[in-house]
Amino acid sequence: MLKKSVITRSFLGVVFLALGIAACYTNPETGRRAMILFSTKQEAALGFSAFAELKREKPISTNPEQTELVRRVGNRISSVVELPHAEWEFVAFKDDEIPNAFCLPGGKVGIYTGILPFTQDEAGLAMVMGHEVAHAVARHGGERMSQQLLVGLGGIGLAVAMREKPAETQALALVAYGVATTVGVILPYSRKHELEADYMGLKFMAKAGYDPRAGVEFWRRFKAYSDQRGGKPPEFLSTHPLDDRRIREMEKHMPEAMEIYRRSQG
Ligand SMILES: [Zn+2]
Repeated sequence: MLKKSVITRSFLGVVFLALGIAACYTNPETGRRAMILFSTKQEAALGFSAFAELKREKPISTNPEQTELVRRVGNRISSVVELPHAEWEFVAFKDDEIPNAFCLPGGKVGIYTGILPFTQDEAGLAMVMGHEVAHAVARHGGERMSQQLLVGLGGIGLAVAMREKPAETQALALVAYGVATTVGVILPYSRKHELEADYMGLKFMAKAGYDPRAGVEFWRRFKAYSDQRGGKPPEFLSTHPLDDRRIREMEKHMPEAMEIYRRSQG
C-alpha cells in the first residue's frame, strides 16, 4: 500500500507536469532546492497588497521610539540581504498583547509592539527581523503557498487563482506568510523551514553588525516565557515552533556567525 505522502507527492508531480510550470528554487544561503509555483514578482505583488490591507486594518504605533527602533534595525538588516523586487518597509503595529512579527515577500516587515519586551534591545530585535527576513529570502511562504494552492484550491495554478479567486488567494498568502491574526488561521512553518531561517537569520544579524549571541538569548527568553504559559504558546511561536533543538542548532552555528560578526566590526 502506498503511503499518503507518496500519493500526495505523485499527485503534485502530475499537477506540476500538467500545468507545465514546475519551478525549482535554490536557496542561495543553504543550497536547498524547493518547488515554488510562481515568480518572485508575483510573490512581491501579493506581499505589497497584503501589507497595504494590514496597514489599513491594524493600528500603527505612534511612539517615535518604537517606530525609529524598528526602522533602524530594519534598515541595517535589509542592507545585507538580497530580496528580489523588494520595496522595504518596516512598520511597528500597535498591539501590546500579541508578541508577533513577520516579513512578507517584497520586503514588507511588520513588528507587533508586544514582541518588544522580549527582544529587549536592538540586537534582540535584529534576531527577530533577521529570522523573518530569512523566511522571505528563502521563499518559505511561497513554498507553503504552492503546496496549499495545489491542495486547497483544487490544483489550479497561481495565475488562474489570482485571476478567478482574488480574495481566496489573498487570504492564502496571509496564511502562508504567517500573518495569522488577520485570517485567524495558524499554519506553522515546518522544522526544516525554522532551522533554515534560524541559520540564515543569525548570519544576517551578524553581517549587519549585531552580536549573534544576543540573538540566541532572545530565543531562550521567549521559550522560557512560552514554557511558563504551559502549553499555550504565544502566536509567534505557534507559527514558528521553537524547541530545544532549534536553540542547540543555533549554538552549533555560533562560530561561523561570530566570525561574520567580527568581520562586520572591521
Ligand atoms: Zn520562523
